[in-house]
Amino acid sequence: MSEQLLSDVEAQLQASVRSFVEKEIIPHAQSWDRSGRYPRELFTKFGELGWLGTAFPESVGGSGGGSVLYALLCAELARGSAGVALGMYVHAALACAAVLHLGNDEQRERILPAALRGERVGCWAYAEAGAGADVTSVATRARRDGDDYVLSGSKLYITNAPFADFAVVVASTAPEHGLKGMSVFVVERDNPGMTMGKPMEKLGMGAAETAEIVFEDCRVPSSDRLGVEGRGFIKALQVLTLGRIAAASFAVGLSRASFEAALSYTRERVQFGEPLLKKQFVRFTLADMKTRTEAAWQLTLHAARLADAGQAHGTEASMAKLFATEACTWSCERALHLSGAQGYMLESTVQRFYRDCKVLEIGEGTSEIQRETIARTFEI
Ligand SMILES: Cc1cc2nc3c(=O)[nH]c(=O)nc-3n(C[C@H](O)[C@H](O)[C@H](O)COP(=O)(O)OP(=O)(O)OC[C@H]3O[C@@H](n4cnc5c(N)ncnc54)[C@H](O)[C@@H]3O)c2cc1C
Repeated sequence: MSEQLLSDVEAQLQASVRSFVEKEIIPHAQSWDRSGRYPRELFTKFGELGWLGTAFPESVGGSGGGSVLYALLCAELARGSAGVALGMYVHAALACAAVLHLGNDEQRERILPAALRGERVGCWAYAEAGAGADVTSVATRARRDGDDYVLSGSKLYITNAPFADFAVVVASTAPEHGLKGMSVFVVERDNPGMTMGKPMEKLGMGAAETAEIVFEDCRVPSSDRLGVEGRGFIKALQVLTLGRIAAASFAVGLSRASFEAALSYTRERVQFGEPLLKKQFVRFTLADMKTRTEAAWQLTLHAARLADAGQAHGTEASMAKLFATEACTWSCERALHLSGAQGYMLESTVQRFYRDCKVLEIGEGTSEIQRETIARTFEI
């Protein structure tokens, strides 16, 4: 769908990711989904291709691109495997982006080059059993002790945790100040106070690995705190808009995949003496899928272009994330419907899309939180 008006660099990146995804991801996507993991080497491959560092400056090992290039990358990856895309995004757009935006020069130089080469993988550890949509309820505590902090508590549903080399962790340094008392830390996997759990069983995103992390008297040097004590998480909420643009792009990629699958099935499936694609209901459903996917992509590109132009884009990123993820859930459900019993079988791709899509409305700020963010701009 709409590839008009892309610059040469944008079109080239899109074409190379698409070709890689066709050859190296789509043929394995079903089996990775079933086995619950994808090869770790994909991180180093993506690093070599410069894709992990797409939205990072060259000074820290990135390729100096921006949000539009990142959106194109995410959409193409998610078209092949939303699970792989989720793992890459948590590493790059959350863990590494937090180091870039909150960290100091020493931390950026120490952590980012190896991470953007894919040699070390990160996870982003915010959510807890009691902290989901309400970001003020983080209970993991970081107590100052001399030059160190001592972390205790636990995190839940953390993508990449089973194999991550480092975790970027949100913890409260001053519980009495709520959101204004939360800090962000980098914790290395070999820290004896941190235990990464086993992968949890999930409805979808099968290829991505998600687990609990437990902190027991986990000693972290103050040099591994990202940003100002008590201000780190607030800043993260303000600056990590790339996550919402990435989530919207995933939704677009997955919507495209579901549209392509439904188009192909209804073109070939003959009932009542003709291809299903000749039926008006089928044609109109596909027309609506294509239209919503295109609208989602234009909202996403708009937010990304504003971000690259250095303009305010928080509301636009929320609108793109909200619309694209809800449109994606609708498209994936319609694709399954149009594919009949064949789509319902575990060997079909559309059942995977149907299971994968829902989490996009939940993670990176649920649809309700996006609506709240957008509505905050209304004056009463
Ligand atoms: C596959 C997967 C991977 C994940 N990976 C990560 C990760 O890598 N790192 C990480 O930190 N987290 C991760 N998460 C967790 C994610 O951050 C949370 O799911 C998300 O923050 C929402 O929290 P919750 O699921 O606890 O929902 P809840 O907070 O329990 O919300 C439940 C429902 O209530 C609604 N709701 C809540 N408050 C309001 C309100 N005020 N008004 C209206 N409606 C409201 C919500 O929108 C939602 O629909 C992952 C989750 C999944 C499923």
